[in-house]
Amino acid sequence: MSDPRPLVPDWLVAPGDANALVEQVWPASATRDEHGVLSIGGVPVTDLRDTFGTPLYVFDEPGVRARARRVKAAFDAAAARHGVRARVYYASKAFLSSEVLRWVTAEGLAVDVATGGELAVALATGVDAARLGLHGNNKSVAELERAVDVGISSVVVDSPIEVERLATIADRRGVVQPVLVRVNSGVHAETHDFLATAHEDQKFGFALDAAPGIVARIRELPSLQFVGLHCHIGSQIFGTAGFEESASRVVELHAQLSEDAPVPVLNLGGGFGIAYTSVDDPTPIEQLADGIVDAVARECEVRGIPMPNVAFEPGRSIVGQAGVTLYEVGTVKPVQATDDLQRLYVSVDGGMSDNARPALYGAHYSARIASRTSDEEPALARVVGKHCESGDIVVDAEYLPGDVAPGDLLAVPATGAYCFSLSSNYNFVPRPPVVAVGDGRARVIVRGETIDDLLARDEGLHAPTTEDTL
Ligand SMILES: *Cc1c(COP(=O)(O)O)cnc(C)c1O
Repeated sequence: MSDPRPLVPDWLVAPGDANALVEQVWPASATRDEHGVLSIGGVPVTDLRDTFGTPLYVFDEPGVRARARRVKAAFDAAAARHGVRARVYYASKAFLSSEVLRWVTAEGLAVDVATGGELAVALATGVDAARLGLHGNNKSVAELERAVDVGISSVVVDSPIEVERLATIADRRGVVQPVLVRVNSGVHAETHDFLATAHEDQKFGFALDAAPGIVARIRELPSLQFVGLHCHIGSQIFGTAGFEESASRVVELHAQLSEDAPVPVLNLGGGFGIAYTSVDDPTPIEQLADGIVDAVARECEVRGIPMPNVAFEPGRSIVGQAGVTLYEVGTVKPVQATDDLQRLYVSVDGGMSDNARPALYGAHYSARIASRTSDEEPALARVVGKHCESGDIVVDAEYLPGDVAPGDLLAVPATGAYCFSLSSNYNFVPRPPVVAVGDGRARVIVRGETIDDLLARDEGLHAPTTEDTL
């Protein structure tokens, strides 16, 4: 494996123009005005800063809607060619708020949740439980009870213990709960490559050879209805090869299970990759949808079984590209990294608390000065946050105009997925607000935290009441 943090990644090249907005990583509405100021959804970032402050999560609402529409259309068309239906669930863990749920459900997507908290947001938003699926390897009894009570369309079961638990809960209520069984296809995909193994040493799902036993048990239980298999091979995957290999393995099991009774659904999860930097070249979603659904159809035909309805669960690929994080530069410091390599450390007013992915996964991002353009020579830079960790990196390696300076606004694109949802209060930094832009207007969809919000939870700062003690 290559060093995850080389001094300079070998793919990074000095751009001809360090102001240019690389199409595949920015929202479609991102442009610069005649003064060089970046605007998103028709709103200049300088106005966003003046009204909402920094750091700021900015979401291009028409961008999310258009993407949801396009992804749904791609899977609908791919399924229709084989005479079946597709259901596209938005994997809400990528970014969850009531507004974003309204956008994606208005575009016809169903919604996946994985905890009681995510379920509560979806229900509070008014999402029909018949359009909700519940995941997770350790759903609590309370979470399962709530899901069954509201009539959730499917629960994806992940262990024998959970099957018995859920059956008891449904039985007590006199209902029949539809379930899918999560399986582990042994295909483990990571970005460009995939690995196909006989066993996978991880917490999710049943091994392919363990699935028939659990399905037989579910079919014995009158309060559960087995509707299909579920498989999710990973995240940020490019190309169709890993999905096709996994689909072929899962269809084999699906065919075996179809011998006893029809199996109406096959859910192949999410994980479709997006571009974070100029070198990422994601497969168009139409090509992915056709490739995967055609592979399922082929495998069904070979085995002489009817093609099931198909389901998918994209998260990142719905919201990722529509999000931009806006920061203000606080300090710029040249650092001699080696004898012959100098880089600028550009410190911004957020960091790993609003984007944990570089620290968690070594993820790469790109950045641009957003409040102006510059003709200065591009300089190698590392954008870092304000937290007390040397791993507090926002953009590991990027060329920025050499005159980048305190007060500049810096925009980091493709932060719509897994940034807000993984955010923290590390160093007691309040979480930034989330602002939706579009048609020249901006509005807060999630308010920012205040220091008072953070202090409010510290019981040592409040007069004790009798309820606080045992
Ligand atoms: C996280 C997750 C997804 C969504 O993955 P993306 O990479 O965001 O598309 C879908 N299904 C399951 C089961 C997941 O855990």
